[in-house]
Amino acid sequence: MTRIDLHTHSTASDGTLRPAELVRAGADAGLTAMAITDHDTTAGWAEAEAARPDGLTLIRGAEISSRWHGAEPGIGLHLLAYLIDPADAALTAELARVRTDRERRGEAIVDLLRADGVDVSWAEVLEYAAGGSVGRPHIAAALIRLGLVSTTSEAFGPQWLGRRYRLPKADIDVFTAVRLVVGAGGVPVFAHPRATRRGRIVPDSMIEELAAAGLFGLEADHEDHSPEERAHVRRLADRLGLVATGSSDFHGTHKTVRLGAFTTAPEVLEKIVAAGHGVPPL
Ligand code: AMP
Ligand code: ZN
Ligand code: FE
Ligand code: FE
Repeated sequence: MTRIDLHTHSTASDGTLRPAELVRAGADAGLTAMAITDHDTTAGWAEAEAARPDGLTLIRGAEISSRWHGAEPGIGLHLLAYLIDPADAALTAELARVRTDRERRGEAIVDLLRADGVDVSWAEVLEYAAGGSVGRPHIAAALIRLGLVSTTSEAFGPQWLGRRYRLPKADIDVFTAVRLVVGAGGVPVFAHPRATRRGRIVPDSMIEELAAAGLFGLEADHEDHSPEERAHVRRLADRLGLVATGSSDFHGTHKTVRLGAFTTAPEVLEKIVAAGHGVPPL
């Protein structure tokens, strides 16, 4: 039996389990392979590697904040990057730039909230981020602490971080991101491409262009996709010669989804491993 979950977050970004706890929780959940894919960082890898239980294959990766500029304003999207070389200069420079901009944008959101009398502080948000990539879930934690919302999801409602206090960050152009990932020996997979419940999505014609530019796969099975959306993504992947993955996008207590809630077929993981050469699977 295999159980493969290729999209999870740790405290290196906006997950709530430390990397070591994450891999142990993966093994406890019966996973045979899992990927650590923190937002715009590989900082959790070393701890996950050191704690990896026997019998669990670890795929090292990241989830890259990208943007498509073919619409106005541009549409944000997430690119999973597996088996990238963490020392690749071009990719690491761009990830560092995005992480810095996450801090600028986070502080600007805090300023907007404070201007409206919401008693959050940037120091508190940084404390929740604990040295990892700062994300809106860390601001959500401050709103929960104040009793203004009771869950992270509620904090993403339109009156909070979803619209009223939503500010853009300087994401990587998605075609550049695909090129950087491939250049770093990695395998790019478009995360939750049809997640309409998160906001605007890109057209299939654009995904076709991304496939021509080197995209390797599409995440089909994800909690933010309806059954129809999952089927649509599978058909699109088939038509474009891309692999279709499934994963939990586990974030610890920031979300309700469990590790292994959605999984990837073993032959798909084999193809990803055969295509990636930035680092080996462990
Ligand atoms: P950011 O990367 O700072 O723009 O924040 C986006 C992240 O917030 C996503 O990657 C998710 O982890 C999380 N997120 C977005 N929408 C929700 C939601 N409705 N409930 C919980 N977490 C969410
Ligand atoms: Zn996240
Ligand atoms: Fe994502
Ligand atoms: Fe994610």
